Amino acid sequence: MSKIAIIGGGIIGVATAYELAKLGEEVILFEKNYFGSGSTFRCATGIRAQFTDEANIRLMKYSVERWEKLEEELGFDISFRQTGYLFLATSEEEVEAFKANIRLQNRFGVPARLIGMDEAKEIVPILNTEPFLAGAWNPEDGKANPFKTLFAYLFRARELGVDAREHTEVIGFEREGDAITAVRFRSNGKVGSVRVDAVLNAANAWAPLINEMAGLSRDLIPITAYKHQLVKTEPLEPGQAEPLVCPPSWNDAYIIQDGEDGGIICGAGIEHKAKGLDDYEPTYDFLRGVLEYAVRIAPPLRYAHVVRQWAGFYAKTPDSNPAIGRLLDNFYIAAGFSGHGFMMAPAVGEAMAGLISKGRSKVPLDWEWYDPYRFERGELRSSAFQIG
Ligand code: FAD
Repeated sequence: MSKIAIIGGGIIGVATAYELAKLGEEVILFEKNYFGSGSTFRCATGIRAQFTDEANIRLMKYSVERWEKLEEELGFDISFRQTGYLFLATSEEEVEAFKANIRLQNRFGVPARLIGMDEAKEIVPILNTEPFLAGAWNPEDGKANPFKTLFAYLFRARELGVDAREHTEVIGFEREGDAITAVRFRSNGKVGSVRVDAVLNAANAWAPLINEMAGLSRDLIPITAYKHQLVKTEPLEPGQAEPLVCPPSWNDAYIIQDGEDGGIICGAGIEHKAKGLDDYEPTYDFLRGVLEYAVRIAPPLRYAHVVRQWAGFYAKTPDSNPAIGRLLDNFYIAAGFSGHGFMMAPAVGEAMAGLISKGRSKVPLDWEWYDPYRFERGELRSSAFQIG
């Protein structure tokens, strides 16, 4: 049994801790704030296999299969619902692109299909069909509650012996050659140190700082924190916009009805580079901009009150694909999820646990595609389609 330290108590760190504990490893999980306080509790809840490249489609097909069984496995309600994703085309060229994406998705078993606007209206009663020509629809995509999911993983991880510490910040490492031998941390004003056999950097937007602590360049994995915001309306009658609905050509704007309280969550690609890693200030230009898109997608939203607006980080890499793999002898990374980390967590957590514990995993994760050293080699992947 090895002792493995995980830095970052978001969904990726917590899911990996659980999977490692299932494999019989001893795990210590560090979170500098409270669990979920990074991007995870700020996310839009969306889960989809409708990507536009083989690596992300295969990974997400597997992840959705894990999501389908997660409530039963963890023994908690996580409000996972397969309410679909509906992408909407505004031009003939986009319809052709949707058709090509659907062919690729179908090749890997994702049951997406092109639908007309009558069917789209049946699925989303408040939809304004007039601007759109067709929809790419996958009924197996869906959503889940990030709070319940993280706490379900955390509960089971602790039950399996994971030492999960909140308000405990990792501040450095001790190294012998290429290997990290100990993690130094600060908690309640006191500094401590623990010997470890391996370390996973699951700090997402903060990951470059952790890499630097390990003696690597901060720019090796160029992750930039972009402020991504959401607005939520008062509750609407259930069933009005259950799928995530998105016309990508409208600045990736989207709406999705919260599966529990019925409020409509509205997002868009109106992004700002964060002023710092504590810059969670919502902005007025986003509020105005996102509501203009939301009302064009679903006109009845004109009459809905906005009850909340919040911001979090899309921890973005240059190709919007995460960095997943080994960085040094016993130092690993799974970070830079660029807006997809929640949906990918069941698959990535299992894959990382397999890699760290056994050197392999049965998860269909294309290690070469997500290779963390690709940026240094200047080998960018095709940009992952990036919305919640
Ligand atoms: P995080 O949740 O950010 O966790 C990293 C943790 O590391 C943080 O809690 C931080 O405090 C901790 N940490 C940092 N430094 C240290 C240190 N030195 N010591 C200890 N701990 C440290 N994804 C989807 O899949 N679907 C969506 O619909 C979706 N919508 C989104 C909407 C918004 C508005 C935002 C902001 C994001 C959205 N995302 C979505 C992205 C998703 O939230 C993230 O990709 C995911 O939560 C990343 O999880 P993580 O565990 O990698 O990172």
